[in-house]
Amino acid sequence: MSMERIWAPWRLSYIQSADGPSEPPFPQDKLPPGGDPGCFLCRAAADPLPPERLVVTSDAVTVTVLNRYPYNNGHLLVAPRRHVGELTDISPEEQQALMSAVSRMVTLLRRAMKPDGFNIGLNLGRVAGAGLPGHLHWHIVPRWNGDTNFMPVLADAKVIPQSLDSLRELLQATLAERPAGG
Ligand SMILES: [Zn+2]
Repeated sequence: MSMERIWAPWRLSYIQSADGPSEPPFPQDKLPPGGDPGCFLCRAAADPLPPERLVVTSDAVTVTVLNRYPYNNGHLLVAPRRHVGELTDISPEEQQALMSAVSRMVTLLRRAMKPDGFNIGLNLGRVAGAGLPGHLHWHIVPRWNGDTNFMPVLADAKVIPQSLDSLRELLQATLAERPAGG
């Protein structure tokens, strides 16, 4: 089933951004050992400041970015900084830091966007829908009552009502006001 998005202001900026085809090779020496310069999560962890990286926040172990192709407004990806693709590759300390980051991001989204619920999950392997199988990441998708009722009316169209830039600003401002607890 194809899913069209009827309002996609980020597409133009995506084409124009440093993540587009014209991006120069990411310097390997800026990446931690094992980092992949072709991986957007590794680049986000190593170089979080450029807005086109879509980084919301990061810490010593984790990095959280806005999904460039969101299923819904506010769709976040929480990843370990290390480029690892299997649950068995992360240490108990990393697991704990990742679950804590997921929990903090749920708190942040609740505060900033007032969703009614969330889908949270992990896709392991391309067959399961992982777009980037080499680097683990948890999806956090906020849900609002009625969002599934609304979509069929538009016949497979999804509406993403807020640009990624303004959403990132909102989330960072909310985080700065009062850091989300675990
Ligand atoms: Zn990576």
